[in-house]
Amino acid sequence: MKIIQDISEMAAFARELKREGKTIAFIPTMGCLHDGHLDLIKAGADYGNVRVVSIFVNPTQFNDPSDYQNYPIALEKDIAVLKSAQVDILFIPEKAALYPDNYQTYVDVTTLTDGMCGANRPGHFRGVTTIVTKLFNIVCPDTAIFGEKDFQQLAVIRRMVRDLNMNIQIISRPTVRESDGLALSSRNKHLCASDREKALSLSRGLFKAGRLYSDGASSTQDLINAAKDEIVAGVEIEYMEIRDSMTLEPLDIIDKRAVFAIAAKVGRTRLIDNIILQEEDHCKELC
Ligand code: AMP
Repeated sequence: MKIIQDISEMAAFARELKREGKTIAFIPTMGCLHDGHLDLIKAGADYGNVRVVSIFVNPTQFNDPSDYQNYPIALEKDIAVLKSAQVDILFIPEKAALYPDNYQTYVDVTTLTDGMCGANRPGHFRGVTTIVTKLFNIVCPDTAIFGEKDFQQLAVIRRMVRDLNMNIQIISRPTVRESDGLALSSRNKHLCASDREKALSLSRGLFKAGRLYSDGASSTQDLINAAKDEIVAGVEIEYMEIRDSMTLEPLDIIDKRAVFAIAAKVGRTRLIDNIILQEEDHCKELC
């Protein structure tokens, strides 16, 4: 595995690969890798001759400075994981190189970022779309792979790629979970055993709502109430919403593919999770 820190070196290497007719699959991450990241990385093999993974904890997407300061870092371990996954290139750019003094340019997706995490984390998506654009410009991927765990982020990136005519295929992968249902997240490292137990009530709530939906319930409020019943003390819900999975518009009745998304704080750790509600789920039960 080639490790590249320098932005120009990465860009030159990408151009060279393109000249050789190679395709690039790109998986951007903030490191502290887990099996959710690894799933995206493995999937990358189907979409490019060369897989590039980036690790960069992007300061502009953190609205809370202490969240940024405390973001978990495990570079040595990540390098070992990426080597054994036979990743071709690890790109680890430096903050000062990506955001030099007098940096002034940002990418902003509008309506899609209004609610949910956008409403609760001012500036977050502007930071995400800015860094993803910058990384796309440097790495020149043919395909980039993102997790559905960050559902709004995925929708925003798809929108940005369409709106800005970026010639990049965006692939998404379902959320990878622990065997007890907890969605994998780098931030889970911050959870002590009792907080982890509390955090489990998030996926429990989502799964309960999912079962109700499969049984034929279609009222958003009913599903949200059912999920709320599962949430235990010590979990501070930021939002619980069911929205159109494409436009992210709020739904009263689930009559199209929808996402049930939750954000919550457990102690000082902010967690997000979601499930997709779609017709086939009814079908699965009926068939
Ligand atoms: P992060 O390092 O948290 O910025 O995430 C990098 C990529 O991994 C993003 O596309 C995330 O959506 C994805 N990801 C994070 N957690 C999971 C998970 N549990 N399952 C699948 N993908 C994930």
